[in-house]
Parts: sequence; structure tokens; C-alpha cells
Amino acid sequence: MNTIIQSPVVVIGSGLAGLVTALQLAPLPVLLLTQEKLGGETSTYYAQGGIAAASYEEKDSSDHIKDTLIAGAGLCDQQAVITILNEGRQAITTLEKYNVEFDHDFNGKPKLGLEGAHSHRRIFHIHGDATGRGMIEALTHVVLKTPSITIIENAIAVRLLKKKNKVQGLIAQIDGQFKLIAALNIVLATGGIGGLFEESTNPLKNFGQGLILAAEIGAELADLEFIQFHPTTLDIPVFPRILISEAVRGEGAILVNSDNQRFLADTKGQELAPRDVVARAIYNQLFQEKKVYLDARSSLGEGFASRFPTINQLCKNVGINPAIDLIPVKPVEHFHMGGIRTNIDGETSVSGLWAVGEVASTGLHGANRLASNSLLEATVMAMRAAKAILQKKSDQICLEDVPIPHFVITDTLLDVKDIMQHHLNIIRDEKSLKSAIRQLVYLIKKADQNYSVLHSEHIALMIAVSALLRKESRGAHYRQDFPQTLPETNRSFLHFDQAYQYAKKIL
Ligand SMILES: Cc1cc2nc3c(=O)[nH]c(=O)nc-3n(C[C@H](O)[C@H](O)[C@H](O)COP(=O)(O)OP(=O)(O)OC[C@H]3O[C@@H](n4cnc5c(N)ncnc54)[C@H](O)[C@@H]3O)c2cc1C
Repeated sequence: MNTIIQSPVVVIGSGLAGLVTALQLAPLPVLLLTQEKLGGETSTYYAQGGIAAASYEEKDSSDHIKDTLIAGAGLCDQQAVITILNEGRQAITTLEKYNVEFDHDFNGKPKLGLEGAHSHRRIFHIHGDATGRGMIEALTHVVLKTPSITIIENAIAVRLLKKKNKVQGLIAQIDGQFKLIAALNIVLATGGIGGLFEESTNPLKNFGQGLILAAEIGAELADLEFIQFHPTTLDIPVFPRILISEAVRGEGAILVNSDNQRFLADTKGQELAPRDVVARAIYNQLFQEKKVYLDARSSLGEGFASRFPTINQLCKNVGINPAIDLIPVKPVEHFHMGGIRTNIDGETSVSGLWAVGEVASTGLHGANRLASNSLLEATVMAMRAAKAILQKKSDQICLEDVPIPHFVITDTLLDVKDIMQHHLNIIRDEKSLKSAIRQLVYLIKKADQNYSVLHSEHIALMIAVSALLRKESRGAHYRQDFPQTLPETNRSFLHFDQAYQYAKKIL
């Protein structure tokens, strides 16, 4: 017999999306599972720049909507964009209610930052560039004091259980033991996929676990090929990679190569062009064996340390003083626009399975995310999902005490990282994608699918198939064999079985 734990709602993950969902569900009892310490090892904690929301400087969110649609390169779900961005101010107010304190000037007005492809200053930040840390510290404090939330740390969700397309519960490894948890609502808030790559800004364990769990029970995933590579991470081998926020370029820092050429001078938007444009330009310089540097010496100089204290310290830790030194940079994996397809309340194609934050694909980001829209999406969608769960009629839980086999967590991740890094990076083509698919099918065939869990090769295969099927370049997805953008296109939706059948057919 296994221990059965029961809860009306289980939230998996303690980044911004998971914490806000759990808080918004109070006083409904919630079990909050997180694989590390509460709020620890989350992308949220690392977020620097801030959270975008149309503020007092703008009459409404119409310009924010416009900027987001342009960045999304024709692939956004317009309704999702309008709904989420219109709730931006409400999201800021909700966070403030949980004691998140954004930076204000002496007159009590929010200090707003500017980032690439935003037409206005609308980025709320905390202690300059420690926005994520500020959010996590404030929210975990409130969560710990909320009696309806039961926190289980060191708990990894490894398998979801469903009956007739309805979620019934999950299996989690808690302190090394596999346990059965019955729940009719499960909220995946497991973050991004950076851990599938050798180099990423994400915590190493964010390797798309939520996507793997959802795909395994037949949930539909969307826009998987759209992966954002952040143009400016510190070019030193530290894992995860250290980000130099876009806000630094927003404050006037420029990019130069080792010949001291400002290679983006003639590009529309220059250093603040969309991220994919900047990332590819840097990638091309590196490909020509030139080094690339961020130069903040004349724009910020001695002011760098007070505007960007966290980044300043991170640079100083490796012997770089941004006031007087060039900062070596390189693009690496950063954010996944794709994810588990949800409706505008965060529900997936499996009833009772919800996805919020980076793991989800609401359609907000389209082919490319506008900077600082993800913290906003995580907050708004957490609020919306909680509201929808509270309004749902509750069924009876009918999970029997199923025996749990002796699972092992698969050990294919290192192979998958190598494949993703080399074949699904900034520039892609058919030959390379087919090679990735061949290797991934081999890994799938080799792995024991019954007794092992968290198959990263499944999700890698789905991403590779989506990338192969999109025969155009759009936003963050760049095919050197199809460099043009098609006049018309649709979002891509995929189930694991479809991807696997397709992969076997083309080999
Ligand atoms: C360096 C960096 C800087 C960024 N800067 C910004 C910014 O300035 N503005 C902006 O809008 N966005 C920024 N982003 C993106 C943004 O931070 C993320 O998209 C957002 O924080 C994701 O929040 P989340 O709650 O969905 O996931 P996360 O914060 O990553 O949390 C995921 C949680 O799920 C847990 N988890 C995962 N799998 C399991 C499992 N199987 N079982 C149990 N727990 C699990 C993790 O341990 C973690 O607790 C940045 C990202 C990075 C990496």
C-alpha cells in the first residue's frame, strides 16, 4: 500500500506563478510541491529587468498590446494578448498587496525602466535589477504565513494520473520516496526548458518537467519551436549563465566586436532591436571568430553600480568592472515561448490540469517574447487560473490506491543537452534537425518507458519535430534553409504521439 495524500488542488513549483496561484486560492487548501527549497532555484529568483505593465505614463494598455504583437511576429493569440495586458495594473496591485515593493522615486511615483522593443518606460523593478529576488522574498514570506497552503519541499512530481481525460492525481518523489497524491486540480508551474540545453540562464533543473508530465498524459503542447536566446549573457563558463539584462542596453549601453565596430549601428532599433535580431547578430560575429562586448562605459560609467547593483556585483565577482571594462557577452537559451497549450484561464486540454507561467503557452508571446512580459503573464495567469478553479464545481476524487512501481528518473538528460545545444540553437536547418530527431528516437527506443520517469528526450523530440515542420523563419525560430517569413501562418499544436509517429516516418 502507498500513502495517499489528498488535496483539492496541488500546485507544482514555487516560482512566481506557483506562489501567486497558491495565494490566490486561499482559503481553499492547497498542497504546494517544489523540488528545491520554497522559491529556491527558480527562474523567477534570477529575473533582473522587471515586470512590464502599462502605467500612469500611458492612458491604457493599447501601446503595450501593439508592442507585444509586433514582437510576436504575427503569431500571437490576439485575444490572449489583450486579456493579459489589460490586467497588467491589477497584477501589480495584487503583488503589492503581498508586500512586493517596487522601486519608487522621491515623489512616490513608480520608477519605470525601458527595455528593447517597448515604446514606453513601463518596466516595474525592485532594487534596480533584483526584481525576481524581491518578488520571491516577499511572496514566500506571505505563503509561509498562509494556513491554507501546505508546503512540501524536496518533492519532484514524476507522473500525472488521469481517467477519461480528467486528472485524478500524481506520483511525486518526496525525500526520495514515491508517494501517491489524489487531486482533481493540478496546476503545473514548473518553469522553462533551459536545462535541456548545455548553456542557459535557467536553473539547471528547469528542463521542461511540466511539459514532459503533461505530454505523457496526452495534453496538447503549442509553439514548441519558439525558444528565445538572450543576446547578452556573460561569456564565462558559469552554469546557469549570468544574464546582463536588456535594461542595460535600455540605459544606453552599446554592443561592439573585437574590432571595436558597433555592428548593430545600421539595424533598425540598433541594440534595442528585437531579441532574436540582436542574438543572431552576435551569433554571427562569434561565428566569424570575433568577440562581442557590451560597452556601458560612456552611457552609465560610474552610475552602473547604483542602477544595476546585482549585475555590477556579478561582473565584479569575475574581475570585470562595467564602469571601466568591456563586458564579454554571448547569446544562450533563455525563455520558452511555447509550452502546454492553455485557454485564457490556464486550463489545458486535459480537464483539471492547469498550466501557469513559463510552462504554459497562452499565445501571449507568439514567435518572440517582448522583454518583461513573462513575469506579467505568470502573475495574471496565476490569478486567472485560481479564480477559475475556485468557480469550478468539485467532483468526487476516485483515485484508487494504485501500486507504484520502483521508478527511476531517466539518465538521458546529458545526451539530450548535447543534441539540443548543437541542433536546436539559434540557427537551424533540415539536415541538422533530422539528425537531432534520429538521435532522439534512438534514445526513446533505448529508454525503459514503463519504469523510468521524466523523459527529457520526449520533449526534445517534440521541439525538434515542431522546428522541422515550420518551414519558414519567424521571430526566434530561424531556418537558414528557409530564411523567408511566410505571408500567412498559424500557431503549431502537437501531441507526443503525433510527434513520435512523424519522427519514425521521416527516418
Ligand atoms: C536570468 C533570468 C532573468 C529573467 N529576467 C526576466 C525579467 O526581467 N522579466 C521577465 O518578465 N522575465 C524574466 N525572465 C523570465 C522569467 O523569470 C520566467 O519566465 C518566470 O520567472 C517563470 O516563472 P515560473 O513561476 O513559471 O517558473 P520558475 O520561476 O522557474 O519556477 C519553476 C518552479 O517549478 C519547480 N519545478 C520544476 N519541475 C518540478 C517538478 N517536477 N516537481 C516539483 N517542482 C518542480 C522549480 O523547482 C521551481 O520552483 C528571466 C529569466 C531568467 C532565467
